[in-house]
Amino acid sequence: MKRNTKQQSYICEAVLELHHPTARAVYDYVKQKCPSVSKGTVYRVLASLVQEGKINQIQITNGADCYDWDCAPHHHLVCETCGAVCDIPADKIKTFRNNQECADMYIRTHTILFFGQCATCYAQTKKELSERGEIQDSERTTQENDTRLSFISINT
Ligand SMILES: [Zn+2]
Ligand SMILES: [Zn+2]
Repeated sequence: MKRNTKQQSYICEAVLELHHPTARAVYDYVKQKCPSVSKGTVYRVLASLVQEGKINQIQITNGADCYDWDCAPHHHLVCETCGAVCDIPADKIKTFRNNQECADMYIRTHTILFFGQCATCYAQTKKELSERGEIQDSERTTQENDTRLSFISINT
């Protein structure tokens, strides 16, 4: 029991330290500190932390789920270049903020997943484009962001 508590605290630490880690990344982190930990324990503890509402599980379309210590409502962008999962504050997204648009249903929460490039990769892309003299900037990007907007789930 004591060992489990210690493993559990390393698992929490991994979710805090790593940025939106997958279960696999949490396991790799905990294994460094606690070589006897099993994959099953990591997955079980993560699942129970999610169930207790202590961490958030983010379902990534075509990717492994990842975990987030920040349970406040916010959205995520998946970088298609480096795979990073980045936070987007909820108030940056102006659509669908309340139930009024769907009065005959009850919406408990919603999740929006964006696909595109993280700040680092996008800066690199812009640099490459401007080096090639191809920068057309904001119009192009806005359009692209719109078409890539993808709803993954609306929990009821
Ligand atoms: Zn990136
Ligand atoms: Zn997040």
